[in-house]
Order: sequence, then C-alpha cells, then structure tokens
Amino acid sequence: MSDDGPSSASTSRDPRDLDTSRTPYQLPFPKEAAAEIVVSATIPEDERVWVPQMEHVWFRPLCLNIVQGYWVNLLRVRKAGVLSRHRHPAPVHGFVLRGSWHYLEHDWVAREGSYVFEPPGETHTLVVPEDVSEMITLFHITGAMIYVDPYGKQTGYEDVFTKIEMCRAHYAKNGLGVDFLDQFIR
Ligand code: FE
Repeated sequence: MSDDGPSSASTSRDPRDLDTSRTPYQLPFPKEAAAEIVVSATIPEDERVWVPQMEHVWFRPLCLNIVQGYWVNLLRVRKAGVLSRHRHPAPVHGFVLRGSWHYLEHDWVAREGSYVFEPPGETHTLVVPEDVSEMITLFHITGAMIYVDPYGKQTGYEDVFTKIEMCRAHYAKNGLGVDFLDQFIR
C-alpha cells in the first residue's frame, strides 16, 4: 500500500463511482448453466413456426426442457368445441392471451388475461365456446398429457419428447429446417 493510503484515494474518487446499482454482474456465469431463451414475438409473424396438432389446432414451442421434462408453448385453437380430455400427473400453468375456454369438469371460464394452475391429478376436458373464433394460451406443462376416455382409460400421451418430434418433423418439411427447434431446447 502506498503513502497515499486508502483515505486519500477515496477522497479523489468521483462519488458516483461508488454507486454500483447499474454495474453489471462482473463474474462469469457457471459454466454448466444453460443459455437463456428470449422470444421477442411469442405470437410469431412467420406462420410456419406454428406446429399443427390437429385440424384447426397448433402449438408454438417456447421452451422444451429435456432434463426436467416440461415444455412451455402457446396453444392456438381456431375451432369451437371439445379439444381433448386429458389427465395431468404433474403441474400445469396457463395464461390466456386471446379468446376463452373452459373445462367440462369445472364451472369457471379462462378468459383473456386469466392465469390457471392445473394441479397434478386433474383430468379435464377442454372446450372452446362457439363464440370464440381463436384462443391462444401459454401453457407450461410438466411431465405428460395423458389422453383418456371419460372413464380414465388411456388413449394416448404426449411429453416433451413427442412435442420435439412433432416440431422437428414440421420444421424439416416447411423450410425452417430441423435445427430451427434447437433454440428452444434446454
Ligand atoms: Fe389440461
């Protein structure tokens, strides 16, 4: 340490230098940490990003997590009526961006701006009402969607890997390319 010492150094320093509130974090991130995902237009301008699920139903991937087994996507439905009946073995979070929908098993309606938590153990039947021409909902789905008949007999399932397969197949043939999906996988 020099004769000036810390006291004289601090008197000559601009006091604004001491405010670190706008100083970015100075250390490297953990090297195992995954990269962030930023999707600036969740509702894409390029129609090809929407992956067909069935007639008049599409999803748009946002985050497909192959280690924790969940996926975040927008679901877009442009038809009224029953969409699917399914069981959730793990939690789901939903946020409605457009339109509205409800479940046969509950008396509430999810409307534009609504948030919905679907706890593990829920089995429900999604219905889009007649007066809704389009609904778009962001769903964060963990584990699987288990499709069932009214008595719980399984008729199909989806998980993050079946979603990935559908996306890859769609993007491979529509010109976006099979690698287009990589940006959403963690
Ligand atoms: Fe559900």
